[in-house]
Amino acid sequence: MKHVFSFGNGVADGSAKDKNLLGGKGANLSEMTKIGIPVPPGFTISTDVCNFYMEKGMFPEYLEAQVKKAFQEIELIMKQKFGCNKNPLLVSIRSGARQSMPGMMETVLNIGITSKTIPGLIKNSGNEKFVYDAYRRLITMYSDVVIEKASGIKVKEGKSIREKLDSILDKMKRDNGLINDSELSKAQLKKLCILYKKEVYKAFGKEFPDDAYVQFWGGVKAVFKSWNGKRAISYRNIENIPHHWGTAVNIQTMVFGNRDKNSATGVGFTRNPATGENIFYGEWLPNAQGEDVVAGIRTPNPLNTFNSNHSTKLLPTLNVVMPELYAELDIIQKKLENHYSDMQDIEFTIDNGQLWMLQTRKGKRNGQAAVQMAMEMLQEKLIDEKTAINRIKPEQLDEIMHPMLDKDIEKQTKIITKGLPAGPGGASGQIVFTADDAEKWHNKGKKVILVRNETSPEDVHGMFVSQAILTDRGGMTSHAALVARGWGKCCIVGCSNLNISITNKKLSIDKTVLEEGDWITLNGSNGHVYKNKIPLIDVDLKNNNSFQSLMKITDKYKKLGVRTNADSPADAKKAREFGAEGIGLCRTEHMFFDPDRILAIREMIIAKNKSYRRKAIMKLLKHQRKDFYGILKAMAPYPVTIRLLDPPLHEFLPNTKSGIKQLSKDLNIPLNLLNERINNLYEVNPMLGHRGCRLGISYPEITEMQVRAIFEATIELIRENHIPAPEIMIPLVGSVEEFKHQKQIVDEMAKIIKQEKGVSFSYYVGTMIELPRACATADQIAKEADFFSFGTNDLTQTTFGFSRDDIGSFLSDYIDKNIVKKDPFQSIDQDGVGSLLKMGVEKGRSTNSNLKIGICGEHGGDPESIDFFHKSGLDYISCSPFRVPIARLAAAQSKLK
Ligand code: PEP
Ligand code: MG
Repeated sequence: MKHVFSFGNGVADGSAKDKNLLGGKGANLSEMTKIGIPVPPGFTISTDVCNFYMEKGMFPEYLEAQVKKAFQEIELIMKQKFGCNKNPLLVSIRSGARQSMPGMMETVLNIGITSKTIPGLIKNSGNEKFVYDAYRRLITMYSDVVIEKASGIKVKEGKSIREKLDSILDKMKRDNGLINDSELSKAQLKKLCILYKKEVYKAFGKEFPDDAYVQFWGGVKAVFKSWNGKRAISYRNIENIPHHWGTAVNIQTMVFGNRDKNSATGVGFTRNPATGENIFYGEWLPNAQGEDVVAGIRTPNPLNTFNSNHSTKLLPTLNVVMPELYAELDIIQKKLENHYSDMQDIEFTIDNGQLWMLQTRKGKRNGQAAVQMAMEMLQEKLIDEKTAINRIKPEQLDEIMHPMLDKDIEKQTKIITKGLPAGPGGASGQIVFTADDAEKWHNKGKKVILVRNETSPEDVHGMFVSQAILTDRGGMTSHAALVARGWGKCCIVGCSNLNISITNKKLSIDKTVLEEGDWITLNGSNGHVYKNKIPLIDVDLKNNNSFQSLMKITDKYKKLGVRTNADSPADAKKAREFGAEGIGLCRTEHMFFDPDRILAIREMIIAKNKSYRRKAIMKLLKHQRKDFYGILKAMAPYPVTIRLLDPPLHEFLPNTKSGIKQLSKDLNIPLNLLNERINNLYEVNPMLGHRGCRLGISYPEITEMQVRAIFEATIELIRENHIPAPEIMIPLVGSVEEFKHQKQIVDEMAKIIKQEKGVSFSYYVGTMIELPRACATADQIAKEADFFSFGTNDLTQTTFGFSRDDIGSFLSDYIDKNIVKKDPFQSIDQDGVGSLLKMGVEKGRSTNSNLKIGICGEHGGDPESIDFFHKSGLDYISCSPFRVPIARLAAAQSKLK
């Protein structure tokens, strides 16, 4: 069997399809060779061999013969021989896994320089300085990678071999008054090689290997071993790369960008990876090796005049310094992009006037660039629509939809704390500690960040005017997270080391103490918090043509409907602009906090009997009718699923002494009576208490008022020639009896209003499925319901028994200890909550084939969960307005899978 794959001179054993065996780099070296691109000849040892070596600790028997044969092929092309004294061949040894693991594994260059080959190298190159320069680089790299790291040698005296050799180099430069390595003379370099070898002997008690093949096999082993180096293992864990893949090893003829003035090296992208602009973009350095560009030892020059900027415009560009070679490179980069039909990240070297390509791979890009490139390549007919859709990771749209922190500055800034990334994007602002202060400061024209232990509906006005929200408690479905996400606002929750003192207006995070008015910056996409300001990169979606065209084509392919969670006409309108096809969840409780109605709801809650309660609640009718009119109109003719009141009633009552006192005055009720009523409402576990449909069952007048408001708004709109589509949703149903009870009220109310107004209308009545019992009895419920909407926030809470508002305090332990892979409130737990959901779908459809099924928990905006919902056969998903584009793209990708 073949385990060594040669490439060179237009012929190659492998191709781009062989990534599993040859790794990404090896497969592409073969492919480039085949399509006539100048690639230094070489060969790839397959990933199979790596796995064999890892298992057995030795090379397989067949390897040596296959490698010898591969060397002969290179030697024939290059007219050089590895290890020969007259015409010596030098090679590089590089790793290359199936999926790129940049910088995680090892490389050794200049293999084959020995006392035997040095005279031949000097004679052929005519450049003694160059040969000794290459030799001292080999000694450094090899001792570091092969002798020290791969052998697992523990560093003595706290200094690694690389550090020891570097200090010899520094001393040599210092003694001779030199600044740059390139100023060293050939005599100095030669001396350096002797000193280096002595140091190696001193450190390891053995001579530096002076045989080309010994160097070669040592290099191959070191690359294999680096697959299981600490860095590589943790990278694979983070990127979910399987550990059994192994790495291939690529052996290639050395070409030297540092040979002379006619030599150079560089890296490029076939399009600008930061903006997506269709302009060849990159950097180069004359007389240098690749590592000099990457390591940032010298500031590289722009490749061409099109992509030089104000700080680089005086630097020499390759198209001016070496116009013919640049033209050749330009043709190659275009050819590569056309061949792979994607933006490529390339590496090249010019060795004494000859251009060589060392690597091509799919170029990494940011969100804006990904969308722009995909849509332009579609226009150029380089790719088709399906490919364009699959080119963009749904999360990348976040970068387009929200202002982001300047990445370069963020990288240099110290993180003061981390929390859960509840609302994406970046924001800077001055700290305030109460919603009222947020509003006051905002009215003075200041930008604020509201810092709270947690938020409640009473804070909404302050949250609205803040740039961002930061909380100490809470999880991804806590109040702060839901509200912020609905507005597309930056938000970090569950930042458990915040020490907030509202009285002193101080926030301490470990040793950092911040006061009201101090600036902080939040990155809501990764949960990082910084002191001071970090500049933001802004967004302009309306004029982002590529984004708009991408959105259009997603709808051709997706099967899942995409609705939004919205409870105001403004949010509904925003969601429509983003392409929502209806409202999947309109939470009515937020409406009750408006100052013009909070008193009526409080009056209703503390009413001493049914007639008082009815009187109070009916005061809300006109407000609710207006709410539903606005929202049904903004969405017409698309459906609006309005959920009846869900939260426990005490959430609407004041929670401070002064607030309660004020209420007793406003309602003209003695304070002791009011306190008694409030105490009666106290619950140990309000999330499992008197909430959801249980409220409508105890107080049917609440249901009656809300339903009347919905239907009266519907009739008003019909009279104005709109086509409203109301869907009434009963929350927290666990049994068919609960549902039937509420549905009867809805149907009776519909009959009454139709009669009263003489106008007919249609409507649906359905239920949230957010309790395990509802899933288990879904067949019974479905007989009565028009639709199901999975409330996966509560379903996750009740399935795991994790409080959605308190998970922030222990989630990081669960993730660190690998007990859960992800926050289950963010990405659906497919095994547990997912099984219940599937059961609900199956049972529901078994008794009602017309049942419409959606999901309106926060998981509706998570691409991985969306794929699960698609596979589970749901009809639609519903998410916050700013997630709608992400959900549309994810839904299209799921369908295309
Ligand atoms: C849910 O529980 O998933 C849901 C959407 O309802 P809420 O978040 O309002 O409880
Ligand atoms: Mg719920």
